Parts: sequence; C-alpha cells; structure tokens
Amino acid sequence: MTHFKDLGLAKPLLTALAEEGYTTPTPIQALAIPTVLEGRDLLGIAQTGTGKTAAFALPILQRLAADPKPAPRRGCRVLVLSPTRELASQIAESFRTYGRHMGFSVAVVFGGVKYGPQVRALAGGVDILVATPGRLIDHINEKVANLGAVEVLVLDEADQMLDLGFLPPIRRIVSTLPKKRQNLFFSATMPSEIGKLAAELLVNPAQASVAPAATTVTRIAQQILFVETDRKRQLLAELFADAKMARALIFTRTKRGADRVAKYLDAVGVKADSIHGDKSQGQRERALAAFKAGGVRALVATDIAARGIDVDAVSHVVNYDLPNVPESYVHRIGRTARAGADGTAISLVADDERGLLKDIQKVTRQTIPSFDRRNDRALGALAAVDKATMPAERPASPRPAQGRSGGGGQGGGGRNRRGGQGGGGGGGGRAHQGGAHKGGSGGQAKSNSGPRPIASTQPAARWSPVD
Ligand code: AMP
Repeated sequence: MTHFKDLGLAKPLLTALAEEGYTTPTPIQALAIPTVLEGRDLLGIAQTGTGKTAAFALPILQRLAADPKPAPRRGCRVLVLSPTRELASQIAESFRTYGRHMGFSVAVVFGGVKYGPQVRALAGGVDILVATPGRLIDHINEKVANLGAVEVLVLDEADQMLDLGFLPPIRRIVSTLPKKRQNLFFSATMPSEIGKLAAELLVNPAQASVAPAATTVTRIAQQILFVETDRKRQLLAELFADAKMARALIFTRTKRGADRVAKYLDAVGVKADSIHGDKSQGQRERALAAFKAGGVRALVATDIAARGIDVDAVSHVVNYDLPNVPESYVHRIGRTARAGADGTAISLVADDERGLLKDIQKVTRQTIPSFDRRNDRALGALAAVDKATMPAERPASPRPAQGRSGGGGQGGGGRNRRGGQGGGGGGGGRAHQGGAHKGGSGGQAKSNSGPRPIASTQPAARWSPVD
C-alpha cells in the first residue's frame, strides 16, 4: 500500500490529506484503515507519533458519511476517550482537519475549564465527541450527556489512562453505551490490566501493532551526556547555543523541577515556559501555543503533561532527568522526529541515574553514545557564577520525595545577569547564545560560533528494529 487511495478512502478525505501534504499512509494507517472501514473492532498497539490518530479518524469520518443521520441530542455518534486535555484537543483538531470537507461537528470535553460551553455544545448533539473521562462522567451524572446513541467508541492511550487511574471511570462510561457499537482501542504498551480491559471491550478485534522501533524512532539521533546534577542546568543552557536546537521539549521528573528549569533558561536568555499539572488550562494552552508559534524555544514539561503533545518540528527532546520507567523514555523521545522529520534526543545523566540508564538501554536494546561532561571546567565556572547570583538547584533524586517545596525558585538573577562576565564570544548579554559558554574541558573547542557541539563528530545511535 503506497497511497491513501489504495486504502479505499473517499474523495473529501483524500483532498484533506493532500492539503496536509500526506501522501503515504504510515504503517499503522495502512493496517488500521481498511479494517475500521469494514466496521471491525480494532486493537492497535502504537504510540503517539506513529500516525495513529489519522488511523482511526479517517475511517471513522468515512463511516459517518456513509450513513448520514442527525447527531443525537445531548449525545454523539463517535466517542473518543483520551487521558489528557492536550491529547483530547489534538484529536479533535485532527478530526476537524481531516473532516474539513465533510461538515461534521466536533466537540471536546475536559476538566479544568467552565462547564457552560460544554453543556451548550452537548445540548444540540455532536457527531464526534472527544473527552477525558472525569469531566465526561460529571456530564453523564448531571444528565447533560447521554451516550445511548454512540456508534463508535475509541479509547486512546489506554495504558496512560490506567496510569492516571481512569479505569473505573472508563468502565462507568462504557456501561452507558449501547451494546452494539464499533470499538477501537489504542495503547502503546499492553500491561495485563490493559489486556483485560481490551478483552472486555473488544469483539473479535483485528490487531495492528506497530513497534516504535520500526517507525519514527528510527530517525531519532540519541545521545547521553554524563554530568553532575548541580551542573545540569548550565549544560542545558549550553546546548541552546546550537541554533539547530530551534524548538526543544525538555522533560523533568517533577513539576517544580520544570518550573525551575524554565525560569533558569529564561534568565540566561533562552525563551522558555513550563507545562505541568499544576498549571491552569489557560496557562497550558498559552504555553503550547507560544511553543508551536516559535515564540518559546524551550518548553519544559513533566511526562503526563507532555504525553500526546503533537507539535510539528520539535527539533530536540532533552531528558533533563531520566524517567523512572524506561517506557517513558520511548514516549518522550517520540515527541521529536514526527511525521518524517529527523530529531535529536539528548539525555543529561547524573551518577545516581546510571541504573535508570541501564534499564532504558536494556528495554530499547541499544547502547546510546555517551559523552562525559563531568568535571568540565567551563560548566564548573558557570555553576559557580550561578551559585553566587541565582538560587541553588536542588538535586533531583531518581525517586524524589513528593510534595517538598524547597525554598529556591524565586528572586535572584534577572535576565542577562551575566552581561559583564567573562567577555568571550559574541557579546551582548546573552551569554549562552553568544558563546560565553565555550571552551572548558574538551580540546575540540570550535571557533566562536558558540559552545562546541556536544557530539557532532560522533555517530549517533539509530534505533534499530527491536524484533
Ligand atoms: P499521531 O501518532 O496521530 O500523533 O501523529 C503524529 C504526526 O504525524 C501528526 O503530526 C500527524 O499530523 C502526522 N501524520 C499522520 N499521518 C501522516 C502521514 N500519513 N504522513 C505524514 N504525516 C502524518
């Protein structure tokens, strides 16, 4: 299968795809689209970044069009459940994009925002409803939503739903659906509880499994930088001297860590924002929009907030802290190298994270090229300056105690506080970008165009197929 036409998709969908510049179906699309068009249930094992949203959205739109009827009042014809608000918004956006020549109504329901607009949207009924489970249950309980006419149920990122404790709400929602319906179930991994839920929901499903190794991840150049915990932020800032690091998603283990890193980057002249569960919906949306528009170069996120974020052209993913679970590494780096682009994933690894690194390499069956930036004189000098002018970085241990809120964070070094320091390269206050971070340990210092590239001379790992 080399073209969407070969998959039996109708003209309005093909037009929308062409407008998006998509010509070739991804593996999950080639597998899923014909099956879903037939009306069969589907168990899709695929992560975000594989094109799975279109894999279910396209055939669903086509089936709706083939059987035109009014949207049921207070209900919907298609219900998509998603673990996070961001993913829900993106799924809805995909339905709108692919269905733009078809005229279906799409609504989103999630928590953290006012009820009124959602109640009004539901009142008249919608064709496609994308929802997070908690808020949808509220609407069901308030009799604002009645899902008795649902024809297709999609459960997206089921494993993430499990992590977030959404299994009971999902069961409750499903209990209000008609027995006869089409079920599409997607998960990146298949822990036993998810397998059980799939067995409960799906009837004689076709299976489409796409190993991340075989798809986008192959294009991600990965590298490890060993560095002391208390010098990570200086190293991170140094990375931004590389102009190729145009739009970087940075992962921290904790929400406070995300805020601290974003604040630090901002202070050294790299426009940054953070996104995590303590931020209001408005704040998250603004941060995402600024990141997408290019106004914010670094978006610092926790795993849950970042899951499913689909921003085209994320040039780099940086693991500021390694994740506790190796699978999260796969999810994180999958945020770059989307839709055919190349991407880079850099992980800053402190000594107490070596065990986590070992697990990641075992699970992904690869040895990631590593570079030792410990005892780096330049980073040490910068850390000393930062120590004198900025609040201290509290080390993040691999399994942090939750809820402590160390003093730091506020006050201290404003922007360009290094204006007078060190002279060095390209001037003008923006120390990191101007090249003041250059030099230091290694002998391979490069001209004055910025800090030496971390590994430009080294081969980067390409992830070879797992099975
Ligand atoms: P998803 O896995 O659904 O999050 O999709 C990942 C990204 O791939 C999104 O930006 C889609 O717009 C894009 N995409 C989906 N299908 C294709 C395709 N056939 N060709 C190129 N890009 C695609």
